[in-house]
Amino acid sequence: MAKRRITIAIDGHSSAGKSTMAKALARELNYVYIDTGAMYRAVTLFAMKERHILNGVVDEEGLVVDLDRLFLAFKYNPATETSEMHLSGINIEKEIRTLEVASKVSSIAKIPAVRTKLVAMQKRMAEGAGVVMDGRDIGTVVLPDAELKFFMTADPEVRAWRRLRELKEKGKATTYDEVLENVLHRDKIDSERAVAPLKQADDAVIIDNSNLTMEEQFEFMLNVAGKRMEI
Ligand code: C5P
Repeated sequence: MAKRRITIAIDGHSSAGKSTMAKALARELNYVYIDTGAMYRAVTLFAMKERHILNGVVDEEGLVVDLDRLFLAFKYNPATETSEMHLSGINIEKEIRTLEVASKVSSIAKIPAVRTKLVAMQKRMAEGAGVVMDGRDIGTVVLPDAELKFFMTADPEVRAWRRLRELKEKGKATTYDEVLENVLHRDKIDSERAVAPLKQADDAVIIDNSNLTMEEQFEFMLNVAGKRMEI
């Protein structure tokens, strides 16, 4: 059976494993993977560096004016075999993965001008099929016409344990309670914000992976994608 190249949107809660699955699918299908969370994290780091977040308070107006000076790009790193985030030409992949950035990113991601700028970039990046894009509003706002949409979730406690393990593996000092608090905080802000809140698209395939292994989940998603690609 002939196969067409499609666009795959993956949305869901923080630390539900979206990027792991998106990367694995993109590798298997030879598609481009676009991590939109990295872009919101990069704007957050930019806001921190430009001193638009002081004592936890965001100076929205100042940040919005400075958005004209924001230059983001993904660049492929053959050593890690992934595309890494660059801000004004500097690799910030490690810096954007800290708990400090994670604790501030939802406050930045709810600013309408930030979303307008990043959504326009994301739409351009996804032009042409053969793309796996993950985030919170991909199936609903960025790529509403995607041929395949997944919505991934898991119990908050399961997500916090997984995230803690990941942070520990990277040598970051933190506790389960701290990570759980961050997961719950981001769920709340992401779901309640006025612009493009996290919600599942009506036509999304929903996956609760609390009790699934990575392999089970990957097989399931690949199978669904394979069917959707049949012409
Ligand atoms: O996916 P990741 O955890 O890296 O995303 C970081 C944050 O960026 C999310 O908690 C959310 O606030 C924001 N985000 C968003 N819309 C997207 C992707 C991420 O609001 N499409």
